[in-house]
Amino acid sequence: MRNLLTALAASTMLTGMAHAAEIYPLDRATILARSPFDFKVELDAVHGEADVAVLVNGKPYAEVFGKPAEFVAEEKDGEGKVLGSALILRDLALAEPGQYVVEVKAGDETKSVTWDVYTTPEVAKAKNIIFIVGDGLSVAHRTAARIMSKGMTEGKADGRLAMDDLDHMAFIGTSSTHSIATDSANTMSAYMTGHKSRVNALGVYADRTAPSQDDPKVETVAEALRRTTKKSIGIVTTAEVEDATPAAVVSHTRKRGDKADIVGMMYNVQPDVVLGGGSAYFLKSDVPGSKRKDDKDYIQLFTDAGYSLATTKAELTAASGTNTGKILGLFHTGNMDTWLDRHELKKGTVDKFPDQPDLVDMTTVALDQLSKNPDGFFLMVEGASVDKMSHPMDWDRAVVETIELDHVVAVAREFAAKNPDTLIVVTGDHTHGVSLIGTIDDEKPGDEMREKVGVYDDAGFPNYTDADKDGYPDKIDVTRRLAIFSSNFPDYYETWRPKLDGPFAPSIQDADGKYVANEAYKDVPGAVLRTGNLPKENDTAVHAVDDVVLQATGPGAEEFKGYMEQSDVYKVLADVFALGTAQK
Ligand SMILES: [Zn+2]
Repeated sequence: MRNLLTALAASTMLTGMAHAAEIYPLDRATILARSPFDFKVELDAVHGEADVAVLVNGKPYAEVFGKPAEFVAEEKDGEGKVLGSALILRDLALAEPGQYVVEVKAGDETKSVTWDVYTTPEVAKAKNIIFIVGDGLSVAHRTAARIMSKGMTEGKADGRLAMDDLDHMAFIGTSSTHSIATDSANTMSAYMTGHKSRVNALGVYADRTAPSQDDPKVETVAEALRRTTKKSIGIVTTAEVEDATPAAVVSHTRKRGDKADIVGMMYNVQPDVVLGGGSAYFLKSDVPGSKRKDDKDYIQLFTDAGYSLATTKAELTAASGTNTGKILGLFHTGNMDTWLDRHELKKGTVDKFPDQPDLVDMTTVALDQLSKNPDGFFLMVEGASVDKMSHPMDWDRAVVETIELDHVVAVAREFAAKNPDTLIVVTGDHTHGVSLIGTIDDEKPGDEMREKVGVYDDAGFPNYTDADKDGYPDKIDVTRRLAIFSSNFPDYYETWRPKLDGPFAPSIQDADGKYVANEAYKDVPGAVLRTGNLPKENDTAVHAVDDVVLQATGPGAEEFKGYMEQSDVYKVLADVFALGTAQK
């Protein structure tokens, strides 16, 4: 009996015991020396300030950090419920590289984390970095793009992608701080800050309080470049420029959906070249199509700051001749249309935005502008629709976007051939659960479309052609085409055919808010309902946890090897640009 009581008391104590405190940056954070970041301690209970001890390498923290933190006696959630006490110290920077052990003790709450503060060589290895991201770029996209655009004979590719010949390679782990799965905000933010975070977060650690812009910040690459160099900065994307991937270059928010505020963050950093979609968040609220809720006119603000404005491909060409060195190009109110829609099918929103530039056009203009700076530049280029078309399993559009992305890699390689002090990085931010498994052959016998799927020896080779030698298939609705499938999906109608009438919308929301198969595809000849394997809250296929392949060439590229965490990629960028030392 006594034993039982003791056991009971012990287990009660366990469940009743407060969780450990949390410290930001998290354990095993890697922090660039001299790079500003916010330090936060979240305690689970309310403590008196005098009862909270914070030691860094055994010394009182204020001695090491150089200043005291703000003590919040009662930190509250959105409903006013007390979460516990907290300590916040903003804009801290550590000049001395090495290990920092941070120990917190408050009553029975204890927590210890170790940070690795790293520095870089004094001398930069390269003058320029071109960082090319295929959003969601997976191995299947690349293989499909190679076969579709170059062809294959007797098992050997008839040509190589520009990205195939980048000489250094690494596998990149994309998981977030709270989940093995991830999104473009957290992943790109890890590349652009050197800190992993939580899904939907950009340039911050995700703290426990409700406001999205009070979370502990870390420095972005754009801020580090402004702090330590006179280099130019360029952001080029086919998404909205305030979408997660481009936003990660400059912004700090727990919520990637804070797009109106992200435009303000972009304005604060003022990248020299910003090209993409998303003008709706630049327009003040009374302008038709605006998605702002205030009367801030960022088109005017950027123009006043010396930017040439372009809203069409023709205007982009004109702006590239103006020599201001600063261009804001917004070619769509939302995400730009895909290459296939812009050039071949004229679907999507091409009728409303008929003169959108290609990603290649935008990259070429950006390189022309940025390379005028004798101090060099950092250019981020995103092929966004690889992801945006992989979600709805529109594989033809996603693969053609990959071909376009590869043409961007070719442009970057041409630039680097003339400017060998340039590092090129080509990578995805996360992957999709997509595989290329064979072909779909309309001439294969069988009543059902599934019988047309050729696997193993039956797959043979697809019959795409490229008569005009532009590097893109002349048409995608050939009789023997690539069979690409997603490992995960909502309920949808599988048609085994390219979506010539516009991007695929596999599911729609029913009256209960659940996603069900989109009946619009029910009557496509041979269409079959596939019952989803995802929760019904998902309208499309989701990201995979699979590693991303990163490739690179140029000075510093040899640092990419083996398996790397996404946050470690930033260390290479920092090394290449010597961001650990003040050069300005
Ligand atoms: Zn995505």
